Amino acid sequence: MSETVAVIPGDGIGHEVVPAALEVLDSVADVEFVHVEAGDAVAERTGDPLPAETLEAVTDADATLFGATGETSADVILPLRDAVDSFVNVRPARTYPGVDAVQPETDLVILRENTEGVYAGIENRLSADVSTLTRLVTQSASRRFAEFACEYVESNGLDGFTIAHKNNVMRVTDGLFVDTVREVAAERGVDADDAYMDAMATHLAMDPGQYDVIVCPNLAGDMLSDLAAGLVGGLGLLPSANVGAERGIFEPVHGCAPDIAGEGIANPTATILSAAMLLEFLGADAAARDVRTAVESTLADGPRTPDLGGTATTDEVAAAVVDRLPEG
Ligand code: ATP
Ligand code: MG
Repeated sequence: MSETVAVIPGDGIGHEVVPAALEVLDSVADVEFVHVEAGDAVAERTGDPLPAETLEAVTDADATLFGATGETSADVILPLRDAVDSFVNVRPARTYPGVDAVQPETDLVILRENTEGVYAGIENRLSADVSTLTRLVTQSASRRFAEFACEYVESNGLDGFTIAHKNNVMRVTDGLFVDTVREVAAERGVDADDAYMDAMATHLAMDPGQYDVIVCPNLAGDMLSDLAAGLVGGLGLLPSANVGAERGIFEPVHGCAPDIAGEGIANPTATILSAAMLLEFLGADAAARDVRTAVESTLADGPRTPDLGGTATTDEVAAAVVDRLPEG
């Protein structure tokens, strides 16, 4: 494999966890990295959080590894997701031996619609007193998203998914979303359950084992995946993939964590697991498996970063993962 991977560390701990993940990627795959910048730091220097050169590198690359950005986040990741036409965000959350989890039986994937809902960016300040937000849901985007969800369920040998929504209140928009997803599931012979997203938050906290795949609109996916992170031991563990038809952007669920940036103690696991999802996306399934196995064994035996109760640095964890990879 000699694919091109655009690399954007971003801000804060992005500059710590992305190099850690690159070390792992470099040990298992023959990929060419194209290093580019985005986020607060480059905006401060140039006035532009997303330079044209970065956008071009991402659209030219086979896949992108992204760290995290700070204040400029919405100006960076939203256009980047657009640039690769990413219509779904895949967010797995599971527990690992050796990591204390609030709910040890959690093993689920959140599939988040990535283009619409309240994150479509249609906001207006109508007067000093009044501001509005338009929630966009289209049948076409819901259908494409649902087709991906069905394929995900089928290719992972699962029975079905649960739709999280609020169609009792957002009758028109979530009405269309749920009806469309249900229709596609019926066509494909995939089981589709559903639950109100607020009730699901309670179910997730108390009994996450009942869920395999949760399918939801944009904001619900954002919220529920941070909740899931809490169940399995923290944000430092959750990877994600922004998947488009041809390209993908792979990033940890967490942000740039300004509170610990520069200390060298950020947990690189989420970003290393995002790199494993990137490998899978590029068809390097065996390499992806090797990375996951090495991560699992490192979480089980240590070293661990302080968020997981350890004392190790980011680099020590990355080195331990590299050590556990099979000889190449
Ligand atoms: P965003 O708005 O980008 O989602 P956020 O404000 O939600 O960002 P994060 O940057 O995700 O914040 O951080 C939330 C908390 O989790 C912080 O206390 C941070 O230190 C911690 N945290 C996030 N990622 C990691 C990591 N990789 N390792 C250790 N701690 C982390
Ligand atoms: Mg957050």
